[in-house]
Amino acid sequence: MKSQLTQLVYYSKVVNSAEIDYENLLATAIRRNKETYLTGALWLHGDYFIQVLEGSRLHVSETYQRICGDPRHEDIVLVGCKTVDERSFADWWMALVMTTPKKQAEILRYSGTPVLDPEFMPHDSLVALMRSEEFIAPHMQEG
Ligand code: FAD
Repeated sequence: MKSQLTQLVYYSKVVNSAEIDYENLLATAIRRNKETYLTGALWLHGDYFIQVLEGSRLHVSETYQRICGDPRHEDIVLVGCKTVDERSFADWWMALVMTTPKKQAEILRYSGTPVLDPEFMPHDSLVALMRSEEFIAPHMQEG
């Protein structure tokens, strides 16, 4: 049975940012996502993690639940979860989104102020903002 292609967006607050090994976090995410054909993007913006997960409904659910139990973040808020026709991050097991000056300027396109507050951003705007390809740090998929 084919599982519906699903896209989930959440944001959360980083816990003890200075103690997090971000390289290790990303490497684990990529390794695990590859096993279940999940793709997506992760943005560390100020105190927030903002993440897009996409893939089968089952694997998006399982992975999101695992991520929710991770002590490296808290106050996890689900922005949206919906069936989609195609992936927004098909080329990345987990793209790392950087806050560059250009990206900072791009925030105003989707927001009332230049300060990004994910609480006031709808699902599609967050995905569009994260997706602007020129702002995504290249992270090549292996294999
Ligand atoms: P294990 O690696 O065996 O870890 C066991 C427990 O310890 C889990 O509760 C885990 O959350 C926690 N843990 C693991 N490493 C650390 C550490 N260095 N410091 C503190 N606690 C730790 N996983 C994915 O598969 N895909 C993703 O896209 C993904 N994105 C993530 C985004 C964020 C913002 C965060 C915080 C985590 C993300 N993870 C992701 C990691 C995920 O939470 C699990 O740690 C990972 O999937 C490994 O799960 P595991 O069952 O093998 O647990």
